[in-house]
Amino acid sequence: MDARERRLAENEVLFREVNERVSTLSDRFGPDVPYEFLCECANADCTFRITLATAEYESVRADAKQFVVLPMHYTPEVETLIVEHDTHWIVRKTGETGEYVEELDPRSRS
Ligand SMILES: [Zn+2]
Repeated sequence: MDARERRLAENEVLFREVNERVSTLSDRFGPDVPYEFLCECANADCTFRITLATAEYESVRADAKQFVVLPMHYTPEVETLIVEHDTHWIVRKTGETGEYVEELDPRSRS
């Protein structure tokens, strides 16, 4: 993993940590209530939001290497495309970058 790949992965981890707080809040309102999550793409300047039911977000987060991004907000150098939905895509980190983001996952720290 080079410095650029690491930086791209860190951007996504940062967005995920914000979403993690949104997800915790929404636990109070139930799994089917839609929330606006931040796009978790590698572009640090991206401020787009993705409306997802908490349960859908949780299913992405069940795998520490997966991230939710807007369609086309995908960085092939650091991730592979898993699923294309109309409103969002699910990407997964592979190789060293995958291990790195897994280490940074707040849920695997505990
Ligand atoms: Zn984005």
